[in-house]
Amino acid sequence: MDFRFSDVQESMAKVVRNFANKVLLPKYGYWDEKEEFPYEQWAKMAELDLLGLRISEQYGGQEADCVTAGLIAEELARGDFNCSYGVLMNCLVGDILDRFATELVKTNWLTKMATGEKIVCIALTEPHAGCDAAAISTRAIKKGNNYVLNGEKSAISLLRAANAAVVFTKTDPTARAKGISAFLVPLDQPGITIQSYPDMGSKAIVRGSLFLDDVVVPAENLIGDEGGGFIQVMQAFDYSRVIIALMCLGAAQKTIEETIEYVKQRNVFGQPLAKFEGISFPLMEWLTRLEAARWLCYRTLWLRDEGLPHTKEAAMCKWLCPEISVTAIHDCLLIHGHYGYTREFPVEQRMRDVIGLQIGDGTAQVQKIIISREVFGREYLPY
Ligand SMILES: Cc1cc2nc3c(=O)[nH]c(=O)nc-3n(C[C@H](O)[C@H](O)[C@H](O)COP(=O)(O)OP(=O)(O)OC[C@H]3O[C@@H](n4cnc5c(N)ncnc54)[C@H](O)[C@@H]3O)c2cc1C
Repeated sequence: MDFRFSDVQESMAKVVRNFANKVLLPKYGYWDEKEEFPYEQWAKMAELDLLGLRISEQYGGQEADCVTAGLIAEELARGDFNCSYGVLMNCLVGDILDRFATELVKTNWLTKMATGEKIVCIALTEPHAGCDAAAISTRAIKKGNNYVLNGEKSAISLLRAANAAVVFTKTDPTARAKGISAFLVPLDQPGITIQSYPDMGSKAIVRGSLFLDDVVVPAENLIGDEGGGFIQVMQAFDYSRVIIALMCLGAAQKTIEETIEYVKQRNVFGQPLAKFEGISFPLMEWLTRLEAARWLCYRTLWLRDEGLPHTKEAAMCKWLCPEISVTAIHDCLLIHGHYGYTREFPVEQRMRDVIGLQIGDGTAQVQKIIISREVFGREYLPY
């Protein structure tokens, strides 16, 4: 066993932490207040080669291992949780396109994703189908060398900033998971309409709904096999779940560190708050939980890098880490007293932002269904 990160990983993490503190953190609240996508920060992340981490070198990426990408997502989230979606989305979409897209799609899109020129989002959820993703009803019908897409996608992160989406559709409406096919759909074509959501948090992530009305997509834009969309592409979600877990832990860790500094300065009853065990003990308990959770994440990413099974572990990371991160941040907010409830400290924004990823990419209940399936076996699934 070896719990050390490599020298290269350590030095990359150091550079990214510095960038997150100096460049991202000062404007974290700005994008939230303006409800704007942080294009400026995206470009800076691209300059540091952080947007092509899981894209092959052949297409301009870094071909980094999964552990390295996780470390970078965690560090970025300490500065700006929403900017760390850049690593999340580009790793998820990069992995999917790299493995399953046609050469034409890879050449057109992967290279530009790595440089930050293009943003590609994932459109799976529909108004009536979230957890039960196999129940989607957006249709793709083959007509000659094209497919024609009709339907509505909801809750899509980055949609209002994106140039294209990986859209999940039904090519066989009589089947569930085996009838699903994924397509790369450029968003600048006729038949596409986009609407926004008045979100509680992660406003900079510009989530939206996508309406597809007779949208024509060339057959080359099919990702993987027809009917293979769910089974092939969904494997990439085992990866994004761990990245999300580390993003949440990064935001919580930073909040605890800030709170430790706050309680050293804040005096009550003639003494620094930090001297009261009612304050220091919960903070130390959170540090302990976050540390344990972090190693679950890095072990899971290591399993993925080694090509070993990790579906169960990824689902464990995805329910546990957002939950403990939200609760840790909530405790920190209360320890700040009324100041924590204001926008003077980033703690209230972190809480709103991190809650989003208790839902996005699969809720805790769905993760527990996955873990149960892996432990009890498929025959004990509730559906
Ligand atoms: C911040 C954020 C970002 C997102 N980004 C994207 C994105 O980029 N692309 C995309 O396609 N989607 C995205 N989503 C959508 C997200 O994936 C879905 O919201 C999620 O899968 C849950 O689906 P739902 O909202 O339809 O809830 P429902 O499926 O209606 O579930 C409602 C509640 O019931 C629970 N539940 C459901 N089934 C069971 C069961 N069998 N047993 C026990 N409890 C159950 C759920 O856990 C949940 O609490 C995002 C959502 C958020 C909040």
